[in-house]
Amino acid sequence: MGGLPEDSSHVTGEAVDVGRTDAAYWFAQHGARFGLCQTYANEVWHYELAVDPGGTCPAPKEDASAG
Ligand SMILES: [Zn+2]
Repeated sequence: MGGLPEDSSHVTGEAVDVGRTDAAYWFAQHGARFGLCQTYANEVWHYELAVDPGGTCPAPKEDASAG
């Protein structure tokens, strides 16, 4: 749920949508350990491989539709 068909990161298997609030919270706390970061401020369920495992996630982009 959440992802758009043209969401290329989903197509390549480098993105994941976490549906439940507690799962999203877990990713917020531990996702960076695996290089998974919340990439869009308006999609709190959407995580992508964005950094090397154990790295620091960049700030989420404002809007998923911004490009
Ligand atoms: Zn998504």
